[in-house]
Amino acid sequence: MTGERVRAAVRLRVDGEPVEVAAGGTLLDAVRAAGGDVPTLCFDDRLAPSGACRVCLVRTGRGVAAACTTPAEEGAEVRTDDRDVAAMVRRVLELMVERIPERALGLPTELAAVCARLGVEASAFDLAGRGLGRDDSHPYVRLDADLCIACGRCVRMCDEVQGTFALTMAGRGADTVVAAGAGGPWVESDCVACGGCVDSCPSGALSGPVSVLTSYATAGSTPAARTSLTLPSGGRPADLVTRTTCGYCGVGCTLDVHTRDSGILAVTPALDGPVNRGHACVKGRFAYGFVRSPDRLTTPLVRRKGRLEPAGWDEALAVVGRELARIRDRHGPDAIAAISSARSTNEENYLLQKLMRTAIGTNNVDNCSRICHAPSAVGLIASFGLAGGTNPAEDLDVADCILVAGANVTQAHPVIGARIAQAALRGARLVVLDPRRTELARLADVHLRGRPGSNVAVFNGLARLLVDRGHVDEEFLAARADGLEELRELLADYPPDRVAELSGVPPDALAAAAEAYGTARRPAIVYGLGVTEHAHGTDGVRTLANLAILRGAVGTPHGGGVNPLRGQNNVQGASDMGALPDMLPGYQRVDDPEVRGRFAAVWGTPVPERPGLRIPEMFDAALAGRVRAMYVFGEDILATDPNSRHVRAAIDACDFLVSQEIFLSATAQVADVVLPGSSFLEKDGTFVNFDRRFQRVRPALDPPGQAYTDFDVLRAVGGALGVDLGCPDPAAALAECGELTPVFAGISHERLDREGAVHWPCRALDDPGEPRLYGTAFATPDGRAHLAARPWLPPGEPPDEDFPYALITGRRLVHYNSGTMTRRTPNLALVPGEHLDLHPDDARRLGVGEGDPVEVTSRRGAVTAPARVTDEVAVGEVFLTFAFPEVPANLLTSAEADEVTSCPEYKLTAVRLRRA
Ligand code: SF4
Repeated sequence: MTGERVRAAVRLRVDGEPVEVAAGGTLLDAVRAAGGDVPTLCFDDRLAPSGACRVCLVRTGRGVAAACTTPAEEGAEVRTDDRDVAAMVRRVLELMVERIPERALGLPTELAAVCARLGVEASAFDLAGRGLGRDDSHPYVRLDADLCIACGRCVRMCDEVQGTFALTMAGRGADTVVAAGAGGPWVESDCVACGGCVDSCPSGALSGPVSVLTSYATAGSTPAARTSLTLPSGGRPADLVTRTTCGYCGVGCTLDVHTRDSGILAVTPALDGPVNRGHACVKGRFAYGFVRSPDRLTTPLVRRKGRLEPAGWDEALAVVGRELARIRDRHGPDAIAAISSARSTNEENYLLQKLMRTAIGTNNVDNCSRICHAPSAVGLIASFGLAGGTNPAEDLDVADCILVAGANVTQAHPVIGARIAQAALRGARLVVLDPRRTELARLADVHLRGRPGSNVAVFNGLARLLVDRGHVDEEFLAARADGLEELRELLADYPPDRVAELSGVPPDALAAAAEAYGTARRPAIVYGLGVTEHAHGTDGVRTLANLAILRGAVGTPHGGGVNPLRGQNNVQGASDMGALPDMLPGYQRVDDPEVRGRFAAVWGTPVPERPGLRIPEMFDAALAGRVRAMYVFGEDILATDPNSRHVRAAIDACDFLVSQEIFLSATAQVADVVLPGSSFLEKDGTFVNFDRRFQRVRPALDPPGQAYTDFDVLRAVGGALGVDLGCPDPAAALAECGELTPVFAGISHERLDREGAVHWPCRALDDPGEPRLYGTAFATPDGRAHLAARPWLPPGEPPDEDFPYALITGRRLVHYNSGTMTRRTPNLALVPGEHLDLHPDDARRLGVGEGDPVEVTSRRGAVTAPARVTDEVAVGEVFLTFAFPEVPANLLTSAEADEVTSCPEYKLTAVRLRRA
């Protein structure tokens, strides 16, 4: 962005006014600094200036110059009011539009605005246009080729921000227009529908389902400015633009939701979003249609004579209150367990754990971080002291080497994936550890294609090479870390040849990766569920963290660090808020009497002492008759938790199941009471993203029908149990949490409304928060980082003779998690069903062609999916998501889990295949 390109000061004059811009700034920066304005069309704050359109011409002492590309020089005199230059610009514009149809003037575009400003009227336009046609093949990106002015913004957006390189300028001379790929239908191109081209297009040639005039060419757009957005002719402007945080993944993109008449017109990424900076992905940008799906739950449902039937709130709450109280009183509070929602706000998670600990009297509360990033929390606490990533997303921009381990970032965390791709394109070394050939793996300097279950061997192998080759920071290790000698001893067992045997990673690739990470000045690590969702996931996190400690690349002011990419939008926050069986908010241990005493004093009731059950333990306890009721909030455990038959049996064994949901999910269908809740677009509160950033969530819509916000529902459930949970609104809930949790004490709704985002830890209102952790000391009890000497251990369920293939589960770009939301949007047109990724050699061996049905069988069940034959997976490995109920992948997955945290081994299930 302009503001980031510039650094020290240059003094010059604009229209006689003295101004100062930082060295490296342009004349456009100077004009803006002087409070002036020149028209622009090819300029976009998110892109490197190209100077293609020439409508920003200004007069300088050297002649006439394009303001956007001309560097500001000391002492320069710039005039924006020169009449000859104005005439020149007008002529440039007339030439630009003379082959553009006149209807372009009726659109809410920058082109129309610039024409109006310079007095270029309809007569300058072509009446008919060039007859280049339209492309409406894509559900989200529409091309009206006649309107293209060939400014190239869309192409640069796709290249410089998204990194997909899906677009090009095709044709010659005046017929040059944007095209996707080789010029075939847009929907068949590599376009990932991030919407960047649509948002950047100044002429209306590219548009979304509904176009809104965005202001990406003017830095610092304000909420007030955004409320004046307009629709194409015939449309009406938005009533309201609500700034909120995306509810899909843990990146935490800031979005503006444009609404009218209680419906969403469009969602656009905020230019000043602290993480996304004007970028989004197909889910956040376009997949909002689910919010008004006719499938939304709009009224409570109560099971009567075996059938779920609509009921009033009074009846539904009375049943919930009566049954939970009955089971608590008859079987004890620990006979009730709750699963909180990683999609919901911090305040709602705070309230649910408070409900369980006060109204029920149990610590049986957990959240889905158990089945994704629990090893991160435990591993990072053990290595560094706190349960979060160490560095802000911004540090990826300055990293000179990025190690991406077990994360398909461009698909699961697309905006960060794009940022990593851009860093690589700028010259940062990229090392990817992944069994699959992901998009980042294709871009990487080194792809370590380890077999599933071999991470610890690879990390130990890398650590050994760092030590052997002297790529360790001895000073840092001596001053700030422990455990080197023990680690050295262990590493003797991890020479490259042995690592190759254990993992399949060739020694030369391991060496190249060690060299890239070991010689970088600011090496960064990001990782995902491919590290954690293993039988030894916590060891994976710890041995990965070893690399950063050895390099002294954590706790330093110059970037680097170790960051887990959190899966669901608020999985970090759900754990931060204490929806954990052994931790109160802020990871304060529930078995610490001092901590319990503080909470009890504010909550007005004792906090149960004994740590509660983890999610898998809840299911086992239900089958053993020790858990009799479950409260499942915003999770479809029958779709997302491993070994679905086991989960179903556990649910069936319970006397009572409450599902608080927005759709009648598989889990809701078997509940005794279903309480309709709210989507992220209807919520008030906060989320915490993957780099520990608290951001506001604001309601753009009311929940539909009789549905309430989940916050209100949880308070009402407390009331049904005879307990006032306090916290009259979400702001009060966060305030109470901050009062009890030192690391959140400085964070409030009011502050976030003012400042946008704050990283925890933040201990006081005047504490700026800590985007970059451990600058002076680690947060471990001794203030030092801890190297971990952990050996590679075999996975829980490796392939064998009977089940010779390794099934990996994960996500694809277009669908999210169980697909509940994205399948109810036009994303379904982009990816209408699940498929099994299968290597060509395996396909040949099995006699399977593209699209042929393949039966996948594990020790627990079988599913059938059409084959997608691709070398993205290795020989002997296959891949599925669990986004489609017709291919319930979790029928296959096992109960094998991380021995420390119980996080399931989703990334490796032994299966056999046959053509169905
Ligand atoms: Fe951003 Fe993730 Fe939402 Fe996409 S899904 S817009 S990357 S927060």
